[in-house]
Amino acid sequence: MEIKKKDIRALTKEQLRDFFESQGDKAFRGNQVYEWLWRKGAHSFEDMTNVSLETREMLEANFAINHIKVDQMQRSSDGTIKNAVRLHDGLIVESVLIPAKNRTTACVSSQVGCSLDCRFCATSRLKRMRNLNPDEIYDQVVAIDRESKLYHNRPLSNIVFMGMGEPLMNYNNVLKAIDKITSPEGLGMSPKRIVVSTSGVPKMIKKMADDEVKFKLAVSLHSAIDEIRTSIMPFNETFPLKDLREALVYWYAKTKNRITYEYVVWDGINDTKKDVEALIEFCKFAPSKVNIIEYNPIDDGEFQQANSKALDMYVSMLEANRITVTVRRSRGKDIDAACGQLANKS
Ligand code: SAH
Repeated sequence: MEIKKKDIRALTKEQLRDFFESQGDKAFRGNQVYEWLWRKGAHSFEDMTNVSLETREMLEANFAINHIKVDQMQRSSDGTIKNAVRLHDGLIVESVLIPAKNRTTACVSSQVGCSLDCRFCATSRLKRMRNLNPDEIYDQVVAIDRESKLYHNRPLSNIVFMGMGEPLMNYNNVLKAIDKITSPEGLGMSPKRIVVSTSGVPKMIKKMADDEVKFKLAVSLHSAIDEIRTSIMPFNETFPLKDLREALVYWYAKTKNRITYEYVVWDGINDTKKDVEALIEFCKFAPSKVNIIEYNPIDDGEFQQANSKALDMYVSMLEANRITVTVRRSRGKDIDAACGQLANKS
């Protein structure tokens, strides 16, 4: 039976230094290899040209580098790029590059499939297979950074955890990946340019506040009325709005960071004055921003985007209550790369 080699990138720098010492080599060699693995993004031990052949062979015998592989890349007419990413065990996730005038954003996945059950989201139709490792999340970002430089002549500037999966249900690995992304030994990006988007797991929002994370938080709210939210996001039964709000109050008290809410307005679901009033009541305790996002249809039309009159009502009522609001158009729809469309279709 073939013994599975350990992924060398699961080791911390300290562990790598210890490993070299245990082999009778210098601990310093650990730093060198670490730099190849992370800052230089080596895909194989062979790439590590300033490491002796003997050492490279020794590493090869002991470890694997389970790098992701971009299986297929699709480009939208609006410049959006979608990567189908193959993991070492053959499973696939998707990540997206979204170019805009002054920024390039990577939208990355945190799980294979999703355990939540949002009825309007294509990913929820795939059952959750497993969590992504920190390096699988990191690799998606590196791949998009390369594509950004290649196709848009500039490095990646922002990251949103809005791909497949619920990042707060894979919190430890997401945190480790962000540590690497923001570390000078990794990509050296500012945490202020990273947004973690959650459907709202109250316990984990509190944990984030306790951990004093520096990245931003976005909450996919879609309704501030329990009955309606539960009908479109059934897990709201387990994590009702009262608990979510309490966690957000805690988050704001600790971090003083503005909270962003993502919100789709659907015809006949959440398009009345009562819905907007509930939203205002829900978020007015802290500086808030509501991003109204366009609905990307995923099937036969059970959910329909509300008309512009309903959107205008949301905007004017929110603004009258001094809540920042933006209405966003979707990107990459023609290649199923927009919010909620990631479902490994091609
Ligand atoms: N699980 C996380 C991140 C993934 S979803 C979360 O829920 O926030 C990223 C965003 O896309 C969420 O705001 C989600 O509600 C939204 N979304 C899901 N399906 C959508 C669809 N069909 N059209 C528009 N937005 C959608």
